[in-house]
Amino acid sequence: MIKNCCMISTWKMSLLGMKRAAPLLKRNVPVHEAILMAVKTVEDDPAISSVGYGGLPNLNGEVELDAAYMNGDTLGFGGVMSVKNIKNPIEVAFDLSHYQRNCLLSDIGATRYAQSKGFAFQNMLSPESKKRYDQTDKMRDSEMLEAYKEHDTVCVIGMDHRRSMACGVSTSGLFLKMPGRVGDSPIIGSGLYADSEVGCAAATGVGEDIMKGCLSFSIVEKMRNGMDPQTACETALQQHLQRFCDAITAAEASPSLQWTAMEMQELPLHYPLSRSLSPIKTFPPSFMLLPTSVEKSPSFSRIRVGLTAIAATNQSVKPSRGTFLLYLLFFSFFCSIFLS
Ligand code: ASP
Repeated sequence: MIKNCCMISTWKMSLLGMKRAAPLLKRNVPVHEAILMAVKTVEDDPAISSVGYGGLPNLNGEVELDAAYMNGDTLGFGGVMSVKNIKNPIEVAFDLSHYQRNCLLSDIGATRYAQSKGFAFQNMLSPESKKRYDQTDKMRDSEMLEAYKEHDTVCVIGMDHRRSMACGVSTSGLFLKMPGRVGDSPIIGSGLYADSEVGCAAATGVGEDIMKGCLSFSIVEKMRNGMDPQTACETALQQHLQRFCDAITAAEASPSLQWTAMEMQELPLHYPLSRSLSPIKTFPPSFMLLPTSVEKSPSFSRIRVGLTAIAATNQSVKPSRGTFLLYLLFFSFFCSIFLS
C-alpha cells in the first residue's frame, strides 16, 4: 500500500520539511502528522522569509501570519488569519479543523484561542526581517504589491497509506501588506481544498488574484469531472487568467524557481523550471513511465503572472495522450524484441 502515499509541496523552501515528513508517511502515520511536520519545519526556519518565524513584515513592521488545514476525509477545515507571535500557525489551524463551528479565526480571537490551548508563542520578527523592513522604502514598495515580489506560501498536499488526503498552507503574505490584510491562503477553496474522494489542490501567488476564481476548488472540481491533475491545474489557471486576473502585465516568473515533489520511492526530487509564457509541464521521469505513479501523480502548473497551483488526485485518471504514446512506444519496442 505504501506506493499510494505521496506528498507534493511548493518550492525548494519545503525540501527539509518534506525530507522529514515523507518517512513518516512511509511508516504509515496518518497524513496530518506528515503535513504538520513539513509545514512546521518551514515555519521554524528563519532563513525562509515568507513563512512563519522571520516572515515578511506588514506595513507596521509586524509579522502577520495566515495558515489553514483541510482534512479531505471529513472536509473539516481550520484556519487562522492575521495572527502575530504564534510560533506555528499551522498547528492552530489543524486543531481548529476538528470543529464544525468557529473553525476560522482571526487576529485577537485566534490568539486567545491559541493561548487557551497552550500553543507556543514567540516574537516572529527575526533580526533579518527587521533589518529588511528598516531598509525598505515603505511608501514606494507598499504601492507595488505584485506577483512574486517578496512573498510566497508553503503549500503541502499529502496522501497516506489509507488514501486519506489533506492539505496544509502557511504564509506571512505580501511584504508591506496593509495590517489586517488577509490573502487566499486561509480561505478554503481559494488557497487550498481537499477531498479524499477526489484529490487536493493548493495555490500560491497574489491572494487577491487567486480568490477571484476560488482556484483550488476549481481544480479539485475539474479532477472530480475526470481531468488528471496536470490538465486540471493548467485549465483552471488558464481560465482564471483569462477571466479573473487583471495582473497579466505583472512581472514574469523568475527562471530560477524550483519546485519540490516527493514520491515515496524517490526522495528528494527537485525540478528546475525554465522561463516560459505558458504553463510549464515538468514531471519527474518516474511519473511519466510508471502506471501506478501516473495514476496518482501530483501535478504542478504555473502561469507567468506568478500564480501557481499544485494538485494530486486520489482517483484513477487516464494517462495523458503524451504518456499513452510513450507506453505505446515502449510496448512496441518490447514486442519487437520479443518477436525478433
Ligand atoms: N497567497 C499569499 C497571499 O496572497 C502569498 C503567496 O502565496 O505568495 O497572502
